[in-house]
Amino acid sequence: MTKIDVLTLFPEMMEAVLGESIIGRARNKGLININCTNIRDFTKMKHGHVDDGAYGGGRGMVMAVQPVLSALESVKRDDIKPFVIYMSPQGKVFNQEIAKELLLKDHLVFLCGHYEGIDERIIENAVDMELSIGDYVLTGGEIPAMAVIDAVCRMVKGVLPDEEAFTEESHFNGLLEYPQYTRPEEIFGEKVPEILLSGHHKKIENWRRRQSLYRTWKKRPDMLKTAHLTKSDREYLEKYKGKRRKTAKFIDEEIK
Ligand code: SAM
Repeated sequence: MTKIDVLTLFPEMMEAVLGESIIGRARNKGLININCTNIRDFTKMKHGHVDDGAYGGGRGMVMAVQPVLSALESVKRDDIKPFVIYMSPQGKVFNQEIAKELLLKDHLVFLCGHYEGIDERIIENAVDMELSIGDYVLTGGEIPAMAVIDAVCRMVKGVLPDEEAFTEESHFNGLLEYPQYTRPEEIFGEKVPEILLSGHHKKIENWRRRQSLYRTWKKRPDMLKTAHLTKSDREYLEKYKGKRRKTAKFIDEEIK
């Protein structure tokens, strides 16, 4: 079972999100084990403080060292070495490939920063990875940690009905997913592509692959540099280079 510990000053915030929906149900079924620890419970500072002034002065407080290290110590186990992640806007930018790597770890510990962050020596000596969710600054590491935990946990066996539920999603294989449609058959004067009503699985699969290639090329051409493409994918893309069309309707015509 994947074991996850979150060290935070706001455990209720984490529980409010990670106790709901697919992840909440997976926790109830015992497929994933997520435990949130309040760093404040470990402080030995006066008045229960969890922050401290910054050496060198300046505005803003730094998370106090003692409660952070004590909280970290409290979640360590004898049998497994934890992989400690400090959520930070200075970290490696999170993506699906990193989510896949984290899925292989037995014990993940997420350290959520607040204020100006944590003492640099903790990062250097007690953290295995600094992870960012993008080039902007948030108030705390809770929302970033939740995003990472959700992305990792939905790939844990049994959380989703089957593997295809996540392997076919955008980013898993380096491409964006094909478009989705549901009832009714017509809205805004537009009908669902006929091929999807045909019941012809091979043709539908082919249509979806082409849609996926086309929309990745249109929306995120940068992703094509690293995507796993077959020879026929490359030939297909080559054919459409320079013909940036408004819609992908021509694909319906190709695969009739
Ligand atoms: N002083 C820090 C800096 O400029 O690099 C920013 C501190 S931020 C206000 C407080 C905390 O929010 C950080 O310690 C980190 O845990 C979290 N955080 C903020 N932005 C983040 C991001 N883009 N990705 C991951 N964590 C983030």
